[in-house]
Amino acid sequence: MINKRIFLSLSEQSGFEADYVQKALNSSWITSGGPNVDDFEKELESYINEKCYITASNSGTSAIHLALILLGVQSGDEVICQSMTFSASANPILYQGAIPVFVDSEWDTWNLCPESLEMAIKDRIEKGKKPKAIITVHLYGNPYKIDEIHAIADKYNIPIIEDSAEALGSSYKGKKCGTFGEFGVFSFNGNKIITTSSGGALITNSKKLKEKAIFYATQSKDEAVHYQHSKIGYNYRMSNICAGVGLGQMKILQHNINSRRAIHSFYKEIFKSIEGVTLFEVPSDDYYSNYWLSTILIEPDTVKNTSREDLRLAFENANIETRPLWKPMHLQPVFEKYPYYGGKIAEELFEKGLCLPSGSNITEEDRNRIKEVVSAFFK
Ligand SMILES: *Cc1c(COP(=O)(O)O)cnc(C)c1O
Repeated sequence: MINKRIFLSLSEQSGFEADYVQKALNSSWITSGGPNVDDFEKELESYINEKCYITASNSGTSAIHLALILLGVQSGDEVICQSMTFSASANPILYQGAIPVFVDSEWDTWNLCPESLEMAIKDRIEKGKKPKAIITVHLYGNPYKIDEIHAIADKYNIPIIEDSAEALGSSYKGKKCGTFGEFGVFSFNGNKIITTSSGGALITNSKKLKEKAIFYATQSKDEAVHYQHSKIGYNYRMSNICAGVGLGQMKILQHNINSRRAIHSFYKEIFKSIEGVTLFEVPSDDYYSNYWLSTILIEPDTVKNTSREDLRLAFENANIETRPLWKPMHLQPVFEKYPYYGGKIAEELFEKGLCLPSGSNITEEDRNRIKEVVSAFFK
């Protein structure tokens, strides 16, 4: 008999999603924007609990693109981006015809390395071009070195777009991720901590910028009775149906975070006695992670002649999904011609790292199956 597959990151429903969607279907708001969208934005704003303005979009990727547009990033401009991330952090730079400059990670948070970042900024300025923006990432929900990174950005007066796609609910020194940069971005893709099927959000601290974001996200219509456009527009607004799913999901956001953090504790227990394997943990109490995904590093030859890939296959044979960490952008065929600053930390993370099943739906029985694979592999 084949065991049911254990997936990397499945979401749960609160049961209220259908009510909000039905409300949209019963009204004439089967469209982009609408009352569910307004309510979803308000709920997110009150959850964030800081003065902020949220624009719901049809994806996290489109929210990053909107941030670049609002910062005036244009063809030929340079934008610094954390290399260790999902491609959606970097793709919008290319949508603008701009040039990505990739930067390595550090070992404490696996995110942007302050030294490599400053090296990159100095060298780009020396070469004649000051970077227009920096895209930072809270990888797997883990906050980056906020104080150090933002001090450098401030020193050179470069705005930060905080890719918080994986980090809704994470915080640093009690302040929520997504609120530190000029712009923050969330994703509500199917695999994220809450989902709207597909969706995203742009966070700013200015009402004016929110109005501008909505302007660009809804085809840049000038104020006129006829259709008039003086700017290139985009169809990036969240649908009122999707926002209904989001309103239902808001009711289990805290539950999802608690579950994912509990799974992280479970992994801490099962890996604590296995030498050569380290579970990622935040470096201090200043950092609070939603632990969107639990991740480990495996030293090669921990078990003779085995590597990360052998453990992945052992899980796969038990019908359990695991994945290597993101492959760094500077090693991707589509990005390898662009500048890169740093050493081999991101590359080593990729070679040794594995993402483990972390969904909030993982049962006791699933945990036992995971535990069995681990004990058999490291026996
Ligand atoms: C998911 C993700 C995105 C993109 O979000 P979508 O909603 O899927 O477009 C961007 N950056 C990171 C780091 C992500 O994990």
